[in-house]
Amino acid sequence: MKKLLINLFILAVSLPLQGKTERFKVVARSESHRAVEEKVELADLESKTSFDGKYFKIVKGKDDEAIPFNSDENLVFKAATVYFHLTKARDYFVHHLKSQYVASLPKMIIRIEHKNQFSELGHFAHDNLDPQFNNALTVPAGKGLSSRNIKPWGIEIWFRPQKKIHISELNANNLQSQEFKVLMRGFRNQIHMQSLQRFLAQSVNILINGTQPGRGLTLDSVMRTAGSSLIMEFGYQFYDPIAKATSRKNYWLDTALVPEIIYHEFAHAALSDHLVLSRSTAIIEGMADFFAGQIAGSPKLAKRIKKYNTFNGKNAKRKQDYILQFEMSEYANTDFVFGLLWEMKTILGEKPGESFMFELRKRLSTEGTIRSDLVEGLLQTCNDICQAPFQDKITILKALNYRGL
Ligand SMILES: [Zn+2]
Repeated sequence: MKKLLINLFILAVSLPLQGKTERFKVVARSESHRAVEEKVELADLESKTSFDGKYFKIVKGKDDEAIPFNSDENLVFKAATVYFHLTKARDYFVHHLKSQYVASLPKMIIRIEHKNQFSELGHFAHDNLDPQFNNALTVPAGKGLSSRNIKPWGIEIWFRPQKKIHISELNANNLQSQEFKVLMRGFRNQIHMQSLQRFLAQSVNILINGTQPGRGLTLDSVMRTAGSSLIMEFGYQFYDPIAKATSRKNYWLDTALVPEIIYHEFAHAALSDHLVLSRSTAIIEGMADFFAGQIAGSPKLAKRIKKYNTFNGKNAKRKQDYILQFEMSEYANTDFVFGLLWEMKTILGEKPGESFMFELRKRLSTEGTIRSDLVEGLLQTCNDICQAPFQDKITILKALNYRGL
């Protein structure tokens, strides 16, 4: 009897504890698409003390071990946000698009606050070699190098730390009094002239006399883009939940806290069965952004894509907006591809359009050009999966023709 009472007592004490799963603060989106903090449960965690799950392990920098729950509050906030949105992105590809490839991907290592450049042979480039900030990157798997004690690695996603740069530090002639938003608008006014990267490089001095004596920071290392300007700007206008700052005389992008950028990076991994992760091209970036937009499922984002889509600069017919040079990757415009894919989806209908774009990856390559490969890919995909290929191809061609392709 006594034993039974003790057992009952233990049961009564342990039951409420068992039911209580840890909840984490993450960045989420409100109805009106503002960044809000939300407390959520994280699915498929395998560890009770760190961000080590069935599909993702979140580590800091070059570490091997997962970030413990009792780490610095901001680090835990970023790790939880990344884990939460990666889980959402994975669910989308596995359960919604039924991707066998994504379902069979081994556990991914996700690095946050990671500054090193990627090295195809060495995994991480030397610490001093052009450390990276304000962007994110998905890296292909590598074999490692046993002679140098570099272990093989799988596909990884790297989120760089943020670094605040005051607009005056950019040392641009006419930009010192302007907010970054204005800079973005300037880009949008000539969206087809060049990529955001090039636009920034021309607008501001490429070398910023930076923090390290005798060694300037390259613009590329502080302002590398993560996806199209549209997705980036979406994240950029995002209110910084850590600094609680809204002043935009400074530029920074905390990519680990921007859901759309997290989706974008996972989409690169998910599409890598056909679109190899060799380098950034307009096609590979536009495809990743398309799926980031789908996962976000935000009517506000959709509206904005549509708005920018009808912008005059989006018309490839206008010679000053679209020239053949855009086909070369350094000029090729991710926004153009993103807008085009989004428009095609709308034309084909939400559901069939989405499956269409997922099929499309099989008929594209990372190195493909917009004018021939993308157009050809769209038509071939339609041949294979459109309900009424003849009719639908005419519709597609009309839309392409309107854009001057
Ligand atoms: Zn990308």
